[in-house]
Amino acid sequence: MIPNRSCILLMTALACHAWAAGAPACGEAPLIRAAWKVLPAELRFPCDPAHLVIIRDYEQFLKAHPDLAANAVLRERARHAFAFTITPAWPIYVNLGPHQAIADAFNRSQPWIAFAIAGVLAHERVHATGNLSEAAGLLAEFQLDQLFQSQRNLPPAFDLHELEQQYRSALAQETTRPAEPPKP
Ligand SMILES: [Zn+2]
Repeated sequence: MIPNRSCILLMTALACHAWAAGAPACGEAPLIRAAWKVLPAELRFPCDPAHLVIIRDYEQFLKAHPDLAANAVLRERARHAFAFTITPAWPIYVNLGPHQAIADAFNRSQPWIAFAIAGVLAHERVHATGNLSEAAGLLAEFQLDQLFQSQRNLPPAFDLHELEQQYRSALAQETTRPAEPPKP
């Protein structure tokens, strides 16, 4: 018998966890690493856990973020999002769990997906650097996608029109002032 065996195992597990938490986030998923690599220099950010966190298990993630777990609207929105920020601050969270099919398609044979995801990172970078405007995020994404399409890194069939529509609708919402109360 080895006394305190479970204690040693627990400490090993904790050590492994600490090592994993300190590992560079970009190295964890080939798709995210590839997307980060194609960001233009002016949109780059350090690809470390302070700036980019990959979520594999959303329920586990919620346990560490009780504020998000308690907000039903944000919690469910983030559950289905590919990427999000919680506050207008780093890190960007990439929710890879429900989107593994996208990563698999990239891994198999569709390198252009990395460029589309770089657009998503550019969008979230806007929020992470303090700008909560959805129009500003969508514009950054649209402009980068447009550049990638002109360079033939995104296929001609990649639908930029829908993204542009989303941007215009967000802009209209954000610039519409609340109606004035009726005068007596
Ligand atoms: Zn956004």
